[in-house]
Amino acid sequence: GRQAAITNELVDIITGASGKTLGSGTYAVVKEAVHIKTGTYYACKVINKKLMEGREHMVRNEIAVLKHVSRGHRNIVTLHDYFETSHNLYLIFDLCTGGELFDRICAKGNYYEADAASLVRTIVGAVAYIHSTGIVHRDLKPENLLFRTKDEDADIMIADFGLSRIMDEDKLHLLTEVCGTPGYMAPEIFKKTGHGKPVDVWAVGVITYFLLCGYTPFDRDTQEEEARAIMRGDYKFEPVAYWANVSETARDFVRTCLTIDPNRRPTAEHLLKHKWLADATPHFVADP
Ligand code: ADP
Ligand code: MG
Repeated sequence: GRQAAITNELVDIITGASGKTLGSGTYAVVKEAVHIKTGTYYACKVINKKLMEGREHMVRNEIAVLKHVSRGHRNIVTLHDYFETSHNLYLIFDLCTGGELFDRICAKGNYYEADAASLVRTIVGAVAYIHSTGIVHRDLKPENLLFRTKDEDADIMIADFGLSRIMDEDKLHLLTEVCGTPGYMAPEIFKKTGHGKPVDVWAVGVITYFLLCGYTPFDRDTQEEEARAIMRGDYKFEPVAYWANVSETARDFVRTCLTIDPNRRPTAEHLLKHKWLADATPHFVADP
């Protein structure tokens, strides 16, 4: 069909040495690609097939699901199509030109509370939608939240979800350097007692904390200490100088997300009713 034709025309560009790299993460390299016929730019995620050996049928099923799900919400990066060679899988997404939330936080130091609340409201709305489809993101963090354009008030977009459950996590350590900080991982992941939807709500708490003060709550010298701090829920709204202008409502929101017991943590749908988000200015005017 038409979609398949688009990706076939893209092959030469993205596999060529001239392809501009947009970023890389836990599993993949993401390159800029152009649809030759229309001149439209896309982001192409290149994943080494070794990471999903023996699960190829699962991969194809999952991609079909993600294609469908990604079209269902304005703040999720649309997956247009995919194709594969013997070594790699190529996923074609809408191009987000505004960069990662991570870089904007670093550039600003931190966000004003009202701006943080409107961003978090949008993120939680999109997470609630993902959860309603039965999918868990599992890797929510500011590196996976992208701005659609370079504008200051650009839409925030959720990227990089769904595929984690078909990856062979044992092979990940063989193929790439050990992934970075466990800072956004929920306590139940370390305790090996679950990794369902509540892990995404925990991550929203860590992201919100980061937005408000410019550093993450469980930063420690080693990954072991960090994991212990997470399992104990050991964080503070300190140094106080960084938290002086942050309301009790915002702190309560963070505390609620960072509930250690996943069964007592609120759902994303519930979070939308929290006063901090309910009172927030929408980040955009929703489509009618
Ligand atoms: P991984 O699974 O390896 O973490 P991601 O999907 O998170 O892969 O992509 C890695 C990085 O590539 C992102 O953090 C981001 O900087 C960049 N990137 C991913 N998707 C897009 C996109 N649609 N538009 C622009 N940049 C992107
Ligand atoms: Mg990523």
